[in-house]
Amino acid sequence: MSDVHLRLSKVHRHYGAGAQLVRVLEAADLAVRGGEMVAIVAPSGAGKSTLLHLSGLLERPQSGEVEITGVATSKLSERGRTLLRRNTIGYVYQFHHLLPEFSALENVALPQLIAGRDKPAAERRAMDLLEILGVAPRAQHRPAELSGGEQQRVAIARAAANHPRIILADEPTGNLDPATSDVVFEALMALIREEGAAALIATHNHELARRATRIVTLRDGLIEPLTL
Ligand code: ADP
Repeated sequence: MSDVHLRLSKVHRHYGAGAQLVRVLEAADLAVRGGEMVAIVAPSGAGKSTLLHLSGLLERPQSGEVEITGVATSKLSERGRTLLRRNTIGYVYQFHHLLPEFSALENVALPQLIAGRDKPAAERRAMDLLEILGVAPRAQHRPAELSGGEQQRVAIARAAANHPRIILADEPTGNLDPATSDVVFEALMALIREEGAAALIATHNHELARRATRIVTLRDGLIEPLTL
């Protein structure tokens, strides 16, 4: 079996205080292994984004531990968390935020250049990723010249550019029509298999969630298995 890349142990996260107290996670546990895609399906306000933010080290829990590739993060400095995030986590948003002035290839090469890779290697890696995601023929196009589904596949390639061990996605197909959602989701699954990353994906789409390795939901502050 593959290693656990993402582990949450007894994680508590609440917002506000007193009458405004919102308890989102209470002693929540989760483990995601390399090559696994875990779908989170839960009503709006249940805490999906909170779970993704905690897993992506964008927020800290009040107590409990978030382990990223075996590294316990609760005692790390902000600098340490930033470096770990940069080196191990790829984030896919509902809206792609691609840079409009750059081609698809350049958008995927850029994070690698920032990380210090040389240009030919960065472009080779970008091309390989665009290939896996089925958008290689669009490599030289700018985002405005791509369909919504193509833009989102480029954004997924960009999130994977620096070989993250964990891919987090917040409604990655939320903005797409059903047929396009299907193509994008399949491409995302192909990528996760190919790269052996651990993926945690919030989605409202039950049909797509059923294709994940497993499905979880958020209930009474816990992360629980869900069958759809
Ligand atoms: P989801 O992504 O499932 O819609 P969220 O994780 O965004 O849910 O939110 C979970 C709960 O926590 C909601 O009740 C939300 O209002 C609350 N919440 C989220 N972020 C904050 C914040 N920064 N301050 C106060 N309450 C928040």
